Amino acid sequence: MSKMFLDPEKPLNTCIAQKCDGCRVSEKLVCHFNFRQLLIFLLMALPVFLWAGFMIYQFNSFILIPWILFILSFFGFIEIRVMCSHCPHYAETEIKSLKCWANYGSPKIWQYRPGPMSLLEKVVFYSGFIIIAGTPIAVAILQTCYALLSVYIVLIAAWKWALKTFYCNHCINFACPFNNIDSEMRNDFFDNNPAIGEAWKK
Ligand code: SF4
Ligand code: SF4
Repeated sequence: MSKMFLDPEKPLNTCIAQKCDGCRVSEKLVCHFNFRQLLIFLLMALPVFLWAGFMIYQFNSFILIPWILFILSFFGFIEIRVMCSHCPHYAETEIKSLKCWANYGSPKIWQYRPGPMSLLEKVVFYSGFIIIAGTPIAVAILQTCYALLSVYIVLIAAWKWALKTFYCNHCINFACPFNNIDSEMRNDFFDNNPAIGEAWKK
């Protein structure tokens, strides 16, 4: 059966606890995702991408198509490999695509890799973001459209703040460069997910 999200009562595949009810980790971290989180994430991200697309379209509509194709391939395949394949959510065996709050629907075609990202993975991760976010900045500078650019910068700053506050401060993927979980809470998560804790010690 294909469910929209994982059963919130059932511990993660990597977790050795018998039940999630009463788990201290769940007071701070989000092990299970839901539709509300996904919707809010999309509502936060959409204005940034729509405005960026508008800026590129103003400059040259032929650039827009490759930019969109790059976004789809990056978040659908590349970022999934270098970052999400380290996420405990990726270890769920009963799902064939991600059922999380950010990359919902991306196919799980890679192997699960517990533990931190390698240097090369981080380089690929940041390069993708620089290409996606930098293209509209470059075209705005070339057009000397600083009003459009200012709005874009404000939208990105607002998105970054909201992302950090509502998502990165609660995310179980400690490998992500944006993750903001302190070591005490990480260790609590590792107590329940010892195989992941071991992978982080290597
Ligand atoms: S750490 Fe385990 S028991 Fe606790 S909320 Fe996450 S999956 Fe459930
Ligand atoms: S790292 Fe984030 S986007 Fe990727 S699978 Fe985990 S929760 Fe989803």
